[in-house]
Amino acid sequence: MRPTGKLHLGNYMGALANWVKLQDQYECYFFIADWHALTTDYADTSKIAPNTLDVALDFLAAGLDPAKSVIFLQSKVLQHAELNLLLGMITPLGWLERVPSYKEMQENLTNKDLTTYGFLGYPVLMASDILIYQPDFVPVGQDQQAHVELTREIARRFNQFYKLDGGEVLPEPKVLLTPSPKLPGTDGRKMSKSYGNTIQMTDAEDVVRQKLKTMVTDPARVRRTDAGDPDKCPVGDLHKVFSPPETMAKVQAGCRSAGIGCIECKGWVADNLVRVLQPIQQRRASFSEAQVKEILDEGSRRARLRAEATMQQVRSAMQMTLSSETGK
Ligand code: SF4
Repeated sequence: MRPTGKLHLGNYMGALANWVKLQDQYECYFFIADWHALTTDYADTSKIAPNTLDVALDFLAAGLDPAKSVIFLQSKVLQHAELNLLLGMITPLGWLERVPSYKEMQENLTNKDLTTYGFLGYPVLMASDILIYQPDFVPVGQDQQAHVELTREIARRFNQFYKLDGGEVLPEPKVLLTPSPKLPGTDGRKMSKSYGNTIQMTDAEDVVRQKLKTMVTDPARVRRTDAGDPDKCPVGDLHKVFSPPETMAKVQAGCRSAGIGCIECKGWVADNLVRVLQPIQQRRASFSEAQVKEILDEGSRRARLRAEATMQQVRSAMQMTLSSETGK
């Protein structure tokens, strides 16, 4: 995850909540991609360190556990940069120019010059981030599948050129599709920091209630007496994610018959959101900044050990091991 600052409910439901479950089934590596932040924010780097701390705190608040998973900072594992350089040598330019987000982001972020080598090459860095752990799976949402596909192509190309004792060094990882429910922001569009429509994981109860009060509803329900349709209402979408079946039934019946008002309906979803957020916020408050830094240091140390094991195989396969010590 890039260090973009405090995370919101969309990040939580679309990624973190799934990751928390995965750590009981798999050996997991989760990291904060501070080098990736540079691909778009190279001109002003002042926010990267504080944002990194905020994301790390949100990781821990959500329930990622350093005793179960390796939680680390990308820039503390220099092996990612070495593999990025080597994979960059074999990745055809056309593959990168075809990545959909390359053109899209250049068009959308018009206030930044993204015609840089680093931005064009970020999918190679991403491939390196993945392949260096020789993983079986990459847990991603649907919108990230293209990146994993490119990672697989780069691994395939590497394995065609270089072998170690006749075997492949960089296995092609599979996508582990994580369910990401439709989570609208307060304006009804997808919840996203760039739209300014988010509910943060750190929002206090009164802030959550206030944001919900101003949230858009089914446009057909202009007056209290108009019937509405929860399937056409962003608040209805939030209920589907956060409310138990009994509440959902009350919303369905009450909205369609104009038996309930939107204020009441929003109050119910706020109750359920607060119930989800409270334990997360309590956990967040239990970590000091010093503890977070220690957790990242220790995770980065473990990640370096694993990454170095892969790099030794990569260097051997590429015959980049000339040394007076080994005599080779
Ligand atoms: S009652 Fe609830 S679901 Fe229906 S329009 Fe109002 S906020 Fe949306």
